[in-house]
Amino acid sequence: MPLSASHLDELRALLGEDGVLASQAARFTYEADALALEKHLPDVVALPRSSDEVAALVRWAHGLGLPVTPRGAGTGLAGGATAERGGVVLSVNRMDRVLRVEPDRLFAWVQPGLVNLWLSQQLAPQGLYYAPDPASQQVSTVGGNVATNAGGPHCLKYGVTLNHILGVVVVLYDGTVVTLGGESCDAPDYDLASVLIGSEGTLGIATEICVRLLPRPEAVKTMLFDFTTVAAACKTVSAVIAGGIVPAAMEIMDQHTVGLVEDWLHLGLKRDAAAVLLIEVDGPAVSLEPQVAA
Ligand SMILES: Cc1cc2nc3c(=O)[nH]c(=O)nc-3n(C[C@H](O)[C@H](O)[C@H](O)COP(=O)(O)OP(=O)(O)OC[C@H]3O[C@@H](n4cnc5c(N)ncnc54)[C@H](O)[C@@H]3O)c2cc1C
Repeated sequence: MPLSASHLDELRALLGEDGVLASQAARFTYEADALALEKHLPDVVALPRSSDEVAALVRWAHGLGLPVTPRGAGTGLAGGATAERGGVVLSVNRMDRVLRVEPDRLFAWVQPGLVNLWLSQQLAPQGLYYAPDPASQQVSTVGGNVATNAGGPHCLKYGVTLNHILGVVVVLYDGTVVTLGGESCDAPDYDLASVLIGSEGTLGIATEICVRLLPRPEAVKTMLFDFTTVAAACKTVSAVIAGGIVPAAMEIMDQHTVGLVEDWLHLGLKRDAAAVLLIEVDGPAVSLEPQVAA
């Protein structure tokens, strides 16, 4: 539905002049996520700063019957942040603050537009970090990670985003604000936060997120092995797990992938290997030598 000038004025009254992008050029930036095959221009882009502004915006859109599509960094590969039916793209990019850190209780409240890696960078002086580490973590947002239940190389040992979220403040389709979960793993009531995580923005908009923090491991060891067949690399992975070792990360690259990585980064990987296997173990320093030896 094309928005009239008075609709845009209503929106600016809610979000401020700089919280509304209506020009064709500005909206063009938001026509797709990383799945560039699917494109659709939103009617307007809104940039709220708080849960209250998100709620006001959603109530306004609900009144007009306009769809609202939340968007983090737009690195999703499934078209989830594309406004396929037009309406409002709600960008959380200005909601990028760490709201509160409780180092003793190992949690922090953050806004959804906070870039994943920035969180661990801010926590580093306190010896803490946030474990979910999708390969896009330099740009993707904690809110986008929640909506896609993102995982990364370290999910083998540490789990995916679902395992690191304690609570979420959510704005529902009509602007109602609810808090799901809380500040501990065993919050009373049904575990509705888990329903929201991975729902790609279809159930509500996460506006504040309580994330679980971990102490940084005392020591990390990384090993690289090369193999003459991919099958041998896979069997090694099975043998490591069967041996009772859970590495922090294990990644296999086949010859083609090794070639691409070498062309780009010149790391000195063996180009003639059929596969290479990267294994990382972490934990207390005394526990690592036996794992490496095994
Ligand atoms: C180079 C590259 C590497 C990648 N590596 C990984 C990887 O290792 N692991 C992995 O899991 N994924 C990976 N991805 C996919 C993508 O980065 C993740 O899905 C990421 O979690 C998306 O975050 P985002 O901030 O970009 O969200 P967006 O792409 O903006 O949005 C993703 C979905 O979340 C919804 N959404 C966004 N914010 C909110 C919110 N606040 N509330 C409710 N819904 C919201 C959107 O509507 C959309 O459906 C990769 C992508 C690229 C391009």
